[in-house]
Amino acid sequence: MKRITFLLLLLNLAAMGQQKITWPKNKKAVIVLTYDDALASQLDVAIPQLDAARLKATFFLTGYITDKTIPRWRAAGAKGYELANHTLYHPCLGKEIKGSSPENLSENYTIPAIIREIRMMNNFLFAVDGKINRTYAYPCTETKVGGVSYVDSLRKTGLVQYARIGGDGRDMITDFAKLDPLMVPSWGVKENTPGVKLIDFVKKVEKSGGMGIFMFHGIGGDYLTTSAEAHKELVTYLQQHRSDILVITFEQAMDYVTEANKMITATTKGR
Ligand SMILES: [Zn+2]
Repeated sequence: MKRITFLLLLLNLAAMGQQKITWPKNKKAVIVLTYDDALASQLDVAIPQLDAARLKATFFLTGYITDKTIPRWRAAGAKGYELANHTLYHPCLGKEIKGSSPENLSENYTIPAIIREIRMMNNFLFAVDGKINRTYAYPCTETKVGGVSYVDSLRKTGLVQYARIGGDGRDMITDFAKLDPLMVPSWGVKENTPGVKLIDFVKKVEKSGGMGIFMFHGIGGDYLTTSAEAHKELVTYLQQHRSDILVITFEQAMDYVTEANKMITATTKGR
């Protein structure tokens, strides 16, 4: 059923121009909800709200999932939520994670060290949900370790198909031909952002006809917290505007964009 739906989506593609994408079913825009760091409040608050609104989302998990939380993440995966790779140990620069032990600091990492960690997390996630293809989010949105970019090294490994970086909220995506699938921008939602601001971002994306990706952390708890109320307001807005806005996982959205770009390239070549 899912595969058929996806093929139907592709048939709806209009390869107009080189960059703009026509979204399926006359939708005006795509919104992707992503949640980082495998936080308890995402299981306790975000997922129940998303379930109630019948919306799907992407969770970037780390190796800090436990015997208590793995069964819950597995259940989320079985419901259609995307479980994605955010490394095992979440290395970041020391200034980002004060008090962290030296072996977790990204300035002390090498490229082979981060690549093997991403590979190991892929295996870990396979044990959780049995899936092979993975998407990735750079910890602390850093694309470097030891001062060197690992984007192209990661690309060469083929371990992940798509990767999410950060952004400042003005980073909705409209020029899809120029989009690097391993450098997909998102809006890192700051602590206590009110619901109206979350909805404003959706409206801006809707107007642009593009894709907007939210990067959340805690929902009604943990850290970098968006309140349960603000999150609920966003989810309700998305539910009420589902005829205009397509809400899908990061992998689904990027699969769609990739296929659309291929078709546009093919059409352009034929001219
Ligand atoms: Zn993170």
